Amino acid sequence: MVFENRNLTLHGLVAVAAAILAVAVFSIALTIWALRQDAAADAARETGNIATVLAEQTARTAQSIDIVLADLDERIAALGVMTPDDLRNATGTKDFYNTLIDRLARLPQASAISVIDDRGILWSTTRRWPTPPLDLSDREYFSEQKRADTQRVFVSTPTQNRINGTWTMQFSRRINGPGAELLGVLFVGVDATYFNEIFGTIETLHNQKITLARRDGSIVAEYPSTEIVPGRKVPDGSPWYELVAKGGGNFHAEGTKGDDARLTAVRPIQAYPLVVSVGVTEDSAFANWRRRAVFLGAGTIVIVVCSIFLLRALARQLRKLMASEQSLADGKTRLAEKSTELERANLQIDAALNNITQGVCMFDEHARIVVVNQRYLDMYGLSRNVVKPGCTLRELIDHRKAVGLFKGDPEEYCREIIATIKAGKTADSLIETTDGRIAYIVQQPMAGGGWVVTHEDITERKRAEAQTAFMARHDALTGLANRLHLLEKIDEQFAWMRRTGEPFTVFTFDLDLFKAVNDSLGHPTGDALLSAVAERLRACTREQIATIARLGGDEFVLVQSSPNQQRESAIVLANRLLEAISTPYDINGHQIVIGTSIGIALAPNDGDTADELLKNADLALYRVKSEGRNGYRLFEPEMNDEAQSRHALQADLRAALARDDFEIHFQTIFDARTQLPTGAEALVRWRHPTRGMVPPGHFIQLAEEIGLIVPLGEWILRQACMAAVTWPADIKLAVNLSPAQFRNPNLVDMVAETLAATGLSPDRLELEITESVLLQKNANNLTVLYQLKSLGLSIVLDDFGTGYSSLSYLRMFPFDKIKIDRSFVSELSTRADCAAIVCAVVGLGHGLSIITTAEGVETEEQLRLLRAAGVDQVQGFLLSRPRLNVNLDFQHPVRNERAA
Ligand code: C2E
Ligand code: CA
Ligand code: CA
Repeated sequence: MVFENRNLTLHGLVAVAAAILAVAVFSIALTIWALRQDAAADAARETGNIATVLAEQTARTAQSIDIVLADLDERIAALGVMTPDDLRNATGTKDFYNTLIDRLARLPQASAISVIDDRGILWSTTRRWPTPPLDLSDREYFSEQKRADTQRVFVSTPTQNRINGTWTMQFSRRINGPGAELLGVLFVGVDATYFNEIFGTIETLHNQKITLARRDGSIVAEYPSTEIVPGRKVPDGSPWYELVAKGGGNFHAEGTKGDDARLTAVRPIQAYPLVVSVGVTEDSAFANWRRRAVFLGAGTIVIVVCSIFLLRALARQLRKLMASEQSLADGKTRLAEKSTELERANLQIDAALNNITQGVCMFDEHARIVVVNQRYLDMYGLSRNVVKPGCTLRELIDHRKAVGLFKGDPEEYCREIIATIKAGKTADSLIETTDGRIAYIVQQPMAGGGWVVTHEDITERKRAEAQTAFMARHDALTGLANRLHLLEKIDEQFAWMRRTGEPFTVFTFDLDLFKAVNDSLGHPTGDALLSAVAERLRACTREQIATIARLGGDEFVLVQSSPNQQRESAIVLANRLLEAISTPYDINGHQIVIGTSIGIALAPNDGDTADELLKNADLALYRVKSEGRNGYRLFEPEMNDEAQSRHALQADLRAALARDDFEIHFQTIFDARTQLPTGAEALVRWRHPTRGMVPPGHFIQLAEEIGLIVPLGEWILRQACMAAVTWPADIKLAVNLSPAQFRNPNLVDMVAETLAATGLSPDRLELEITESVLLQKNANNLTVLYQLKSLGLSIVLDDFGTGYSSLSYLRMFPFDKIKIDRSFVSELSTRADCAAIVCAVVGLGHGLSIITTAEGVETEEQLRLLRAAGVDQVQGFLLSRPRLNVNLDFQHPVRNERAA
């Protein structure tokens, strides 16, 4: 922008300069033109002056000749000449000749004086005596004077002397008689060169041309040309004639072929018919002017050229100047930008320095602080008054020591740092301040001998690392050790045991039916329960002797170091755990009662490695579970065999269904009062190729574990239904459903399809479920139960009384039948509480219109008591054992007998 303006002014300047130059050139041209005018005027004036002077001289010459002629005329008259003859007589004398000579002497310009008579014959001449009889009648002066009517002088054009050949011009005068008749002519011959001589005396101008001409234009004499050309005239049409008529003036004649352009002054001579004209060539007239003009012009050109060069140089210089000004301006802007940038950078550095999490301290080569940021001061709680630029390293460390944030010897520390920096090495160190913070310090040498120190407070990082390390080894939910940490701990225990001989114990346990809690109350509640359990575990164990771990889900492991009485203290702890865990929980408003099963392995007896110990404790745990949960077991070597055989059994089980190794036995159920069969319960049997008949108690759980229960259950229902359709129509079929079957979404469809396929009327089918189905208190299982019931079949609550809150389940679903668990029946006669429970259940069943069945009736006593209690139906070995072909029961004479 600025540059453009300057460019404009530059162009303006150049334009102005050019204009000035043009004006100068113009005025110089004007001057030259004016000078030319002046030169022309000068030439005119000069030629005019010369012409005037010459005209006067010529006039005087003519006058003097005229006077002599007039005098001679008077003398002739005085001689009494009246006729031409008189004249001839008077002038032909020697005397007259002498008179002529005398008069000639008075005319220096004249070469001769002569007289001719009226016929043109020469009568007397100063040239010679005696006078030769020359006829001059052909001469112009004679013919002119003969014609003339006055006695005016006539000047004739030069003629060549016939005697001596010289050119002479004649001033002639008529001699009149008394009647003015011509008597003769007097004439004075003037050498034609005479005027040239006169003219030659005035030679002021170069190339001047002086002409003496008659008024009729005939040229009489010319200077400087001496050659006389007879009959030559001023060219026709020349302004000369006009000027002569006007009485004189100047004219300009354009150059012709043989002649240059001229400026000519014309001066007619008063009283004589002569005209003097003085001409100069333009060349000479303007010679001076031209010289000046050339000088001026050349000077101007030189000036113009110089000026142009100067201007160009100036412009170039200006442009350069402007460019440099521009670049200077640019430079300034850049500089300004740079400086703002620098300022910004400084601010940024300041901001950076004061915002970075590291303490930064910069030292110069004399170990004095150059820069220190606030963070550094804050980190160590140092004073700005001490720690500031100029403070030495030693002063700084001393100050740190003084405020109690430096451990060690300041002198040694400083010496070490300076030595390291001098060696050009980067040093880093980890220091712990006296207030327990950890700082990571890096000393970085700089060019020039100084160095930068960064102090990073890594306490938090260390803490985070510790946290991460902790997280890596602990369960996030409960804060208990995880598997990794557990294995480390067990290894530590082994190491400890090897050093001290002190044994330790591993407990593995899980929460009975925890999955049901999770499913029914939701995971957050499940998680809260796990946390609560962890809390109780911590509370009931001493941290020093026990590591508690959660391996995932509800699987816990506890390691107890037991210096003595290992087995006993293990049992004590197991009982404490059982008690602690089974105490009811209040979680999110839910009352939860949960049991636990504990497996125990003793090191070193039960294992040399962590894996082995854990595996064996798990086996013991499995045993607890298979024995009905909520208890503990110490590992026994047989468990290993069991486990192995279980594994083998699982493998066999997979193949069994395909091999059709299962069969269904039925156990008849009787009316307690009439003892007539009312139905039969299907009980699956596995005819193992080598083990013989395997009871369901041994393989149902296995089938659940390996997911075989769904196809097996379907197969059982189908087989049972197929059998039942062959029975009498009043005999019902009871089929057991495993809780695992409820996880199969097609359960209801499967049942409906089976009924339809086998043609068994739904009202003849009873499905037996255990409380565990309802313990999974989720809406789905209840829905499934309602859907099953809506098919028209009956739902039976099996093993009633073995759970924790069996009575509450009765409110949950409208069961058709309750089966009082065998455990109550078997102790019916020995334990009063069992009888009471049976009575209560029977009463409840009657109140709710639910049929009650007692199972496991083995004695008549039991049967009697049950009947007395009002039980509706009975089932047991006393009445009928499970058997393949149950039809016999229905045709049994006893039935008919009893029925009767
Ligand atoms: P449960 O449903 O309570 O079946 C009754 C069990 O008691 C049967 O044992 C039966 O043989 C036995 N029992 C009957 N009367 C007496 C008696 O007077 N004294 C004694 N000591 N026992 C008697 P089993 O057949 O070994 O079945 C055991 C359990 O296996 C069943 O208990 C049931 O929970 C399950 N189970 C049997 N068959 C099936 C089946 O087809 N499906 C499913 N899901 N579970 C089955
Ligand atoms: Ca049953
Ligand atoms: Ca039962």
